[in-house]
Amino acid sequence: MKIGILKETQKGERRVCISPTIAKQLIEKGFEILVEEDAGVNSSFKNSDYEKIGASVEIRGVVFKEAKVLVKINPFDEEDLKLIDNSHILMSQLFHKSHPDLIKAIAEKGATAFSMDAMPRISRAQDMDVLSSQSNLAGYKAVILGAYEMTKIFPLMMTAAGTITPSRVLVYGVGVAGLQAIATAKRLGAVVEATDIRMETKEQTESLGAKFISVDNSGEEKAEGGYAKAASEDYARRQKEAVNKSLFQADLVITTAMVPGRKSPILITEEQIKQMKNGAVIIDLAAAQGGNVELSKLNKTVIKDGVKIIGTTISPESVSTNASDLYGKNMFNFLKHLIKDNEFVWDLEEEITDETLIVHNGKIRKNGKTE
Ligand code: NAD
Repeated sequence: MKIGILKETQKGERRVCISPTIAKQLIEKGFEILVEEDAGVNSSFKNSDYEKIGASVEIRGVVFKEAKVLVKINPFDEEDLKLIDNSHILMSQLFHKSHPDLIKAIAEKGATAFSMDAMPRISRAQDMDVLSSQSNLAGYKAVILGAYEMTKIFPLMMTAAGTITPSRVLVYGVGVAGLQAIATAKRLGAVVEATDIRMETKEQTESLGAKFISVDNSGEEKAEGGYAKAASEDYARRQKEAVNKSLFQADLVITTAMVPGRKSPILITEEQIKQMKNGAVIIDLAAAQGGNVELSKLNKTVIKDGVKIIGTTISPESVSTNASDLYGKNMFNFLKHLIKDNEFVWDLEEEITDETLIVHNGKIRKNGKTE
């Protein structure tokens, strides 16, 4: 079966969906790999790196004509749609809930499409979960960005000129990004604290050597499928009471709290910022979903009362080599799951297939039922 690796066209995107290392593993599994010319250049992979492992590098039109499976990171765009027909099986993050027109257009072409961001949060799907693999890198990069923006260093340092006390880092939201932020800040020598509405994250936080700030979550709706539910106003008040002391002492705050399908909760208000340390930095990783900080703006730095608030997603583009390797490995595992003996299995009752298959032979599916 021929798999086409397409070059990303979205502005600012530097990743490629399958790196040469992973393409080699697919070839060893019996797949033929076609790569659109220069697909990997922004992730430091040359065309010759793909050719060396046995893939063929082709112009765009040839990849669409020859490959049955077309793989991307970002949703297929209008230019892609012109070249898509009913022989194609598309795989990318489609963000289908916010792109109904794209889904309709794919269906009109009679094609089939899987959405990587619809991966269920079950143990056996973990190695196919692109949202997790990419958030992990975002958590790491948030700490690096914070270190760059701070006017202090992280570790305790004893020098002849005096002792430097370690910086204090506070992480809101101990999901995939938050856990990696905790681990990275600890490795750099900071004193780290974290909080989350899901109490099961206490043990995970402590296993990394950080302190967990517990907030009584009794009365809150319980999380489902690994996701958090929106917190009540009463919880937000209790959270402030529990966390404020640490917030007002923190040198770096990283906020990652998200609630799938909803606007992110505001966890830090303007009133709280007034009481924070002069020179403190907040990296709001939830900025694209509305932000966890009242004053944050996506892709902007706002300075208020001496506190620098950076609204970002620190999308994994900024570490595109690793991000491409991990996204590619997720794709490899997904393809291995769907295809046996060079044929798609099409087990529509199976949970991973059911949830990720959005359009099947031109029909839009909903909750696993073909309309
Ligand atoms: P996320 O990005 O949706 O949210 C980040 C964190 O913010 C979560 O831990 C959430 O509980 C927390 N949060 C939400 N509202 C909050 C509030 N008001 N106050 C404090 N914290 C708040 O989550 P995520 O990082 O994608 O993952 C969450 C969990 O799901 C993790 O435990 C992860 O391991 C699990 N997960 C499992 C799989 C799988 O099994 N295949 C895949 C992905 C994630």
